[in-house]
Amino acid sequence: MAQSIQAIRGMNDLLPADTSVWQQVEKVLRQTVSSYGYSEMRMPIVEQTNLFCRAIGEVTDVVEKEMYTFTDRSGDSLSLRPEGTAGCVRAALEHSLIYNQEQRLWYMGPMFRHERPQKGRYRQFHQLGVEVFGLNGPDIDAEIICLTRDLWEKLGIAGEVTLELNTLGNSEERKAYKESLVKYLEAHFDDLDEDSRRRTHTNPLRVLDSKDAKVQEILKGAPVLYDFLGAESKGHFEQLQHLLTSQGISFKLNPRLVRGLDYYNLTVFEWTTTALGAQGTVCGGGRYDGLVEQLGGKATPAVGFGLGLERLMLLLTTLGKIKSSSAVDIYVCGMGENIEAAQLKVCADLRRALPEYGVMNHCGGGNFKRLLKRADKVEAKVAVILGEEELKNGTLTIKDLRTTEQEVVPEDQAVTLIKRILERCDAADAAAADTAPAAQ
Ligand code: ATP
Ligand code: MG
Repeated sequence: MAQSIQAIRGMNDLLPADTSVWQQVEKVLRQTVSSYGYSEMRMPIVEQTNLFCRAIGEVTDVVEKEMYTFTDRSGDSLSLRPEGTAGCVRAALEHSLIYNQEQRLWYMGPMFRHERPQKGRYRQFHQLGVEVFGLNGPDIDAEIICLTRDLWEKLGIAGEVTLELNTLGNSEERKAYKESLVKYLEAHFDDLDEDSRRRTHTNPLRVLDSKDAKVQEILKGAPVLYDFLGAESKGHFEQLQHLLTSQGISFKLNPRLVRGLDYYNLTVFEWTTTALGAQGTVCGGGRYDGLVEQLGGKATPAVGFGLGLERLMLLLTTLGKIKSSSAVDIYVCGMGENIEAAQLKVCADLRRALPEYGVMNHCGGGNFKRLLKRADKVEAKVAVILGEEELKNGTLTIKDLRTTEQEVVPEDQAVTLIKRILERCDAADAAAADTAPAAQ
C-alpha cells in the first residue's frame, strides 16, 4: 500500500462536527459586526513580502521568524499573510477607500505563522479582523471594544474574559521613554535573558512583555511609559476609560502590555482568559495612526483588533457553551419498487416549503429498519416515509424521531405537521442550551 500523505503540522482539518460549531460562531460574529454598520473586505492570502516588513516591522517575531516566505515563478518574494491589517491597509489605499473618508471594515479568514504548534497556537489559524480608518477619538476605540464585549455576551462567555488596557502614547513620547528604558536595561544587562538582551537594542518595548520570570522581576524597577506621556495622550486614555466604564465594561490597566507588532500607538488592549493555559489571549488590538502613511498614504488615524477564532472555539467548547448540530433535519425514505422519482419529488417539495431546514434523501433502498438507522445516524429529527401504500393514497408517513410517534397524513398537510415537530425540537434544544452546564 502506498504511504499516506498527512496534513502539514500546525494546519488543521475542520471536520463536519467542527464546521458545525464554526458556522454557528461565524454567524454570531457576522451579525455583530453588521449590527455596528461595518462592511466586509476580502483580501488575497498572499502579498508582497515587503508589505509585511514595512507594516509589521523588521524586528518583530512575526517578520523575523514566523513568516511563510517564498519566491514565485516570476522571482518575486511573496508571503502568506501572517495577519490582516497590512493587507487591509494596502487594499484600502490601492482602491482609495480611505482618502478623506471614514471606513469601518471587517474581514475573516486564515493567517499563517511558522510557530511551534501547541494548543491554541497553530501555523494556519483564523482571525476576525476589524479596522476603522479616519477617526481619531477615544470614542471609536471604545466602540470596537464594546463590539467585542457584545460578542462575548452573545456567546455566553462575558464572565470568562478579562479586558487589559494600556496606552503607548505617541511616537515622540515613546522615543523619550525608549531611551530611558534602554538605559535601565543596560544597567541590568547581565541579568537579562538572551532574547531580552537582543531586544534591548532592537525593540526595547518588547522586553516589557518578556515571559522570563527574572526579567519580569527586573522590570519592576523600570521606568513607566505613562510618566512620559503629555496631556493629549493622557486625555485620550482617560476619556477611553471613562467611556468604557459608562458602558459597564470593566478593565485592568496593564502598563506592560505592548503587543507584538510595531505599528501600535496610544490605545492597546487584549481580552484574555485563564481557561486556555499559556495561549490566553483571545483578542488583541489597538490604535495604529502611523501605518497608513508608512505604507504610502496620507496620514490617517486608524484602530482595529484581531480575534483568534481557534482560541475562541476552544474556549467555547472547553466551557461547554456550544455543541455541534446536524445538517439534517428531515430524512426522506422511500420503500418499494420504482419509488425513487416520487421520493425525489417529495424532497424537492419539502425543500421549497421549508427552506430553512436540511432535507436529506435516502439513497440505496433497504428495509424499514435500515432506513431508520440511517435517519438516526445523521441525527435527523423527522423521518418522512413514502411507501407504495402512501403513493397510492396521496399520503405520507411522518415519524417524530425523538418521541417515535408516527402519523399518516395527506401530502398537503405534511408540511404543517413536520414544521410543528421541528419547531418543538428547536425550542427544546434552545432551552437545553440555556441551562447547559458552564463546564464539562
Ligand atoms: P501571542 O502572544 O499569543 O503569540 P500575538 O500577539 O502574536 O499573540 P496577534 O498578532 O495580536 O497575536 O493576533 C491576534 C490574535 O490572533 C491573538 O490574540 C490570538 O488569539 C490569535 N493568534 C495569534 N497567533 C496565533 C496562532 N499561531 N495560532 C492561533 N491563534 C493565534
Ligand atoms: Mg505571536
